[in-house]
Amino acid sequence: MRGTAVDPARPDSPLLTDRFGRVATDLRVSLTDRCNLRCTYCMPAEGLDWLPKPEVLTDEELARLIGIAVTRLGVTDIRFTGGEPLLRPGLVDVVAATAALAPRPRISMTTNGVSLARHAPALAAAGLDRVNVSLDTLDPIRFRTLTRRDRLGDVFDGMAAARAAGLTPVKVNSVLMRGVNEDEAVPLLRFCLERGYQLRFIEQMPLDPQHGWDRGDMVTAAEILAALRSAFELTPEPGERGGAPAERWLVDGGPAVVGVIASVTRPFCAACDRTRLTADGQVRNCLFSRTETDLRALLRGGASDEEIAERWRGNAWAKAAGHGINEAGFHQPDRPMSAIGG
Ligand code: SF4
Repeated sequence: MRGTAVDPARPDSPLLTDRFGRVATDLRVSLTDRCNLRCTYCMPAEGLDWLPKPEVLTDEELARLIGIAVTRLGVTDIRFTGGEPLLRPGLVDVVAATAALAPRPRISMTTNGVSLARHAPALAAAGLDRVNVSLDTLDPIRFRTLTRRDRLGDVFDGMAAARAAGLTPVKVNSVLMRGVNEDEAVPLLRFCLERGYQLRFIEQMPLDPQHGWDRGDMVTAAEILAALRSAFELTPEPGERGGAPAERWLVDGGPAVVGVIASVTRPFCAACDRTRLTADGQVRNCLFSRTETDLRALLRGGASDEEIAERWRGNAWAKAAGHGINEAGFHQPDRPMSAIGG
C-alpha cells in the first residue's frame, strides 16, 4: 500500500531503497541510551539526561519493529547497540524473538564488554551470533582515564567468555586519539592476533554530545596503517567489500586480518546498507542524519505493520548521498552517539 505523498520516482519495491540505488539490509537497533562507562569522547562524567522510560520502546514494541524490518523490508542483519545494550533487562528475550524470525537474520551486538562474561552463555543460547567489543587501550590506568571506570579486567574476561560461548569472530573496535592512545596501534593488534580476535580501528567521528570534535585530534586511516606497517606486513584482503564499513588487510600474509573504518577520510557512504532504530522508536537513515521518522507514535497510535513499513521506506528513500562531514556547512546531529548506537 503506498500513500499518495510517495515520490513517484520511488520504485514500487518492498525494500528500503534510496535515491542513489542503495538498499538498507543492515538494521542497527539501539536498545538503550544508558551506559556503565563514561568514555571521555562519548559522554560527560555525570552521564547524560537519559531517555524517560515511557519514551523507550518496550520489548514487545521492539520485537514488532524488528519483525517488520525482517519480514516486510528485506533486512537480513540485526546489530544490537546502545549506549550499552547489556544494560537492557529484556535483552535475552529480544535476541530470542529476533532469532525466531523467518527468514532468520544474522544477529550481532556491539558492547563495551564490561558485563559480557556474565551474559555471553545466555545470549549465545538465545541466538546471538557474534559480538563487537569496544576497546581503546590495554593499559589499566589509561582505561580508567578514558572511561572513568576501573573495569579493563572485566572487558578482557568478557571477550574471552564470548569466544568460549561461540560468539565468533569476536571483533574489537578501537578508536585512536592523538596524544591519548595512538601509541597503542601495534600493541592492540598484537593482543588481538594472539587471541584470535579481529581488530578494527575506527576514525573518531563528530558525534560527541559536547560537539567538541576536532579533525586535528583524529588519527587518520593513513596514520594508523603507517603505524601498523612499522611492525607488520599488510596486504589488501582479496574479495568484494560490499557495504562493509571496514577496509581489511591480511596481516603478515594472513589468514589474520585487521580492519580500518575510515568514515571521515575515506567515506564508504556510496555502498551504505544501514538503517537505524533508536531506543525511543525513531528511524534514522544515516548515523549523521539530522532528521528522524517517528515509528513509536505510529505503533502506539494503532498503525498496521504495513503502514509502519511504508513510513520506514519513505525514511530510507530520503537518505542523503553521504554524511557530509567533509562538506562546508556540516552540522553534527543533535542526538549524541550514545543515543544513536554504532
Ligand atoms: S555516514 Fe551515513 S551514509 Fe555514510 S556509511 Fe555511515 S550511515 Fe551510511
